[in-house]
Amino acid sequence: MINIVLFGPPGSGKGTQAHNLIEKFNLKQISTGDLFRYNMKNDTDLGKLAKSYIDKGELVPDQVTTDMLVDEVKKPTDAAGFIFDGYPRTANQTAELERIVKEVLNSEISVCLSLVVDDEILVERLLKRGETSGRTDDSNEEIIRNRIKEYYTKTAEVAELYKQQGKYVKINGVGEIDEISQKLFAVVEKIK
Ligand code: AMP
Repeated sequence: MINIVLFGPPGSGKGTQAHNLIEKFNLKQISTGDLFRYNMKNDTDLGKLAKSYIDKGELVPDQVTTDMLVDEVKKPTDAAGFIFDGYPRTANQTAELERIVKEVLNSEISVCLSLVVDDEILVERLLKRGETSGRTDDSNEEIIRNRIKEYYTKTAEVAELYKQQGKYVKINGVGEIDEISQKLFAVVEKIK
């Protein structure tokens, strides 16, 4: 299996690049942000809980996020592996993902692909996306800046953990979408 952690701050292009990677390598994408938005749209209990954090630009607590992820990983699939998009976002989630991939899939994380984008470009991109995304957390600069702050205080350390395992690969996330995809493809081809 190829199991990719697609990593980077909000607005770094994870969703867009996940889309290109799943097509190229027949992978299944699991986006915790998308799963929360699905639950919010359907007004489930999980959706209501998640909304109270997401609307402030804060991370949803680890336990509920991980439980939701496990349910998704357990669903049968004929994909060649997974792309984890937006998970893990804390050191605790990183350890949980390692355990889940081992226990449920009898596999391991192959690589952490990290998209690097300057903060001011992120803010610009997210405000622009907010014009059409309908996402409440894209709609205002204060919330966007809080999401970036959460990234530095709670999520950035995830990169360190994958660095220690020798699984961390950094890619410049600024440029043409296809050009960035080609760079990601080249890394995955090498580890396949
Ligand atoms: P995203 O679509 O990945 O930008 O996620 C949108 C929001 O969902 C984030 O700002 C968090 O509030 C929440 N979220 C998504 N994934 C996670 C996660 N792994 N842990 C905690 N909160 C998350």
